[in-house]
Amino acid sequence: MRRKLVVGNWKMNGSLATNASLLAGIAEGLGENSAYCAVCAPAPYLAQCQALLSGSEIGWGAQDVSAHAAGAYTGEVSASMLADVGCGYVIVGHSERRAYHGESSELVANKTVAALEAGLTPIVCVGETLAEREAGQTSAVVAGQLQAVLDAIGERMSDIVIAYEPVWAIGTGKTATPAMAQEVHQQLRAQLAGQNKEAAEAVQILYGGSMKPDNAAELMAQPDIDGGLIGGAALKASDFLAIIAAGSAPDQ
Ligand code: PEP
Repeated sequence: MRRKLVVGNWKMNGSLATNASLLAGIAEGLGENSAYCAVCAPAPYLAQCQALLSGSEIGWGAQDVSAHAAGAYTGEVSASMLADVGCGYVIVGHSERRAYHGESSELVANKTVAALEAGLTPIVCVGETLAEREAGQTSAVVAGQLQAVLDAIGERMSDIVIAYEPVWAIGTGKTATPAMAQEVHQQLRAQLAGQNKEAAEAVQILYGGSMKPDNAAELMAQPDIDGGLIGGAALKASDFLAIIAAGSAPDQ
């Protein structure tokens, strides 16, 4: 059985003081048999994560990475730099980067390769806009986004995490119903299985889009939903912990 993974995407939020208190709150409240959990912090706070989280049960990582290895790319951060400071994860292809920074599926695929080469676990985001869903294009859109990555990474499918995040559900309070989300997750897993059946069973596919304490359990009870990528609710320790608890194994 795939153990659940709950990842907080802090986006462009936080400060040294608020991060420290959030992380202390999460660390204090983690129970036994917890789901795996991680936080993806803004770049200036990765050193703080290194100081506070190295050796802890809370994984951590970045929200974006350059597709380039090194050189004249002002403002960019390479995968090897992220690995150097101790990141375990990096989000790639978040819909906010696709929408506001024009990231194509090809670029997302290149970033995924860069992350894998540096030993990071890329959390590859896919998802449709409201217009695409209403036009009946959900399947084709997410399949195309995932295929671009699969074509680029070859045999390394089992080293990635996928996050299905319907764009219309991110930060809007609108959540896909468990059945709607499961339908897409099942499709994504079938697509993975088309390349490697055994590896497909091991890949964690997270749901993201207004996951909250009150809907997390039902979403994560779906057979192909292996956890969550959490935005707003990851900024409050009690909410984040409640979502982690919803994904935790039942007490023995
Ligand atoms: C996200 O940023 O990936 C996200 C899912 O945000 P929210 O939970 O706020 O919808």
